[in-house]
Amino acid sequence: QVIYLNGKYVSKEDAQISVYDHGFLYGDGIFEGIRIYNGNIFKSREHLDRLYDSAKSIMLDIPLKQSEMQEVLNETIRRNELRDGYIRLVVSRGPGDLGLDPRRSPKANIIIIVEQLSIYPEEAYINGLKTVSVSTRRNVPDALNPKIKSLNYLNNILVKIQANLAGVGEAIMLNSQGYVAEGSSDNIFIIKRGVIFTPPCYCGALEGITRAAIIEISDKLGYKVKEEPFTLHDVYVADEVFFTGTAAEVIAVREVDARTIGEGKAGPITMNLLKEFRKLVEIDGVK
Ligand code: PLP
Repeated sequence: QVIYLNGKYVSKEDAQISVYDHGFLYGDGIFEGIRIYNGNIFKSREHLDRLYDSAKSIMLDIPLKQSEMQEVLNETIRRNELRDGYIRLVVSRGPGDLGLDPRRSPKANIIIIVEQLSIYPEEAYINGLKTVSVSTRRNVPDALNPKIKSLNYLNNILVKIQANLAGVGEAIMLNSQGYVAEGSSDNIFIIKRGVIFTPPCYCGALEGITRAAIIEISDKLGYKVKEEPFTLHDVYVADEVFFTGTAAEVIAVREVDARTIGEGKAGPITMNLLKEFRKLVEIDGVK
């Protein structure tokens, strides 16, 4: 396994950064999780756009132009000889002193890790996941806009801990107003009477790249999609519920807080969207 670290390609053992890195000390940094399908980076431009937007928003200077970052990604994949896998791209504020001041961390750290990935067994895509809602809330409006994919993932980790305790793989987080926001690392969709709903980003959802792809696919297939706030009640009584994310793709939910969703397995629209999504990932190359 070859890891990219600030211009060098090093082994896992040699991939080391300072304990003074503000990404480590304060969660001061940003990241992306990206998929490689068939040797191609899926939605590469969209991921890099989001990374560079996140960087701009938190005034973090990435010492590579976006086109250079693209080349570095390609080279890291090439060196790892991986045709299907997952890329973790992290840019932290870099080493500084113990104070908060980012001016004392002038040099960002850039790390790219490429790995194999299989998150859910194929059976889960057909039978759906059990999930629960958790008490961890996303505050909206928040100084830390959910559109920024920052290294501050404590909220999401708390959701994951609650999911683990409930024995489920993903859980539903509400925002401080009680509307559904998203999962620990996935966006959420519900379907009622043929209409597809997903929370708008101002409800506390990340502007997911898979979410955007599914909205686009739904439009193409002629489904009506609404970005509208909704509550847990709407989730419980939905005909279909599914999560989307780079790692999970499109995964159906069969049960939420012990309420069976629809027929208790992946519904027809969810299956259709998954099928179309998988067609898309096969043909989508580096753009
Ligand atoms: N929500 C959160 C908090 C995430 O971390 C992720 C994963 O990146 C997602 C949603 C799904 O977004 P994407 O489809 O871009 O992977």
